[in-house]
Amino acid sequence: MSDPNAFDGPREPTGFVCVWSPGGVQAAAVRVSGELNLVTAPQVVQVLDEALEHARLIMVNVRDLSFVDDSGLQVLVDATRRARTSGARLVLVGVSAELAQWFAVTGTRPLVDMLPGTPSAAGGREDAVARGFDPLLNPVNARIVAARVMDIPDRALWAHSLDGTIRCGWAPAAEDLRLPVGAPLEVYLDHQGAVNGWWHTASRVAVNQRHLTSIDAAPTTAAGLACQGACELIWQAPAAVHVLDHDERCLTCAGALVLA
Ligand SMILES: [Zn+2]
Repeated sequence: MSDPNAFDGPREPTGFVCVWSPGGVQAAAVRVSGELNLVTAPQVVQVLDEALEHARLIMVNVRDLSFVDDSGLQVLVDATRRARTSGARLVLVGVSAELAQWFAVTGTRPLVDMLPGTPSAAGGREDAVARGFDPLLNPVNARIVAARVMDIPDRALWAHSLDGTIRCGWAPAAEDLRLPVGAPLEVYLDHQGAVNGWWHTASRVAVNQRHLTSIDAAPTTAAGLACQGACELIWQAPAAVHVLDHDERCLTCAGALVLA
């Protein structure tokens, strides 16, 4: 039976299950249920590592976890770090209020990525699927590059990706951009390797530069695009109207976009 106060003490593992399955393009889904503790943590590590070997986006459904202890929390944090450093993304879905609070009080909230959504009803991925799109089917998943900001001269942003290449993305005026040099980014490429946009996950600053004709020709107006999908990001988009004209989807979750 689920204990509403289960996040503050160790218990014996019961009904534990952790499995992964391939999803869409370079994506995988993980479902873990029962108690995530010192005993079950190694199995979760193994499953998450297997998923990370096969996918760039791993959505971990934690809705049916009844208990998470310190070691369990560390497993999720460590796996998120391994994903980020390898250019992949691990996203927790169905996070309960208790687990969210557990991340908050331990100071680990910035170290994990989670989709908003209430775990009691439809939440996270299920909610997105119900609204007509599925993050696992986002073709951008295969073209995520982890990068770090090297410099922000004027309106140009240079990102050094993990494969050693230097990529230029569009950035709002430097004084409006609060990214520290060295900040890790997710960079989204098109099939030719050009930058479609980027996302600073810690601050949720996100830029969609689809249909921007030139990095050098700074646009005179920049509008925001609100994602109606699971990520709920507001994309700063210098060519927002053109993005909508082409029926483009959100870069991270493939959700529909509207002018913010
Ligand atoms: Zn989105």
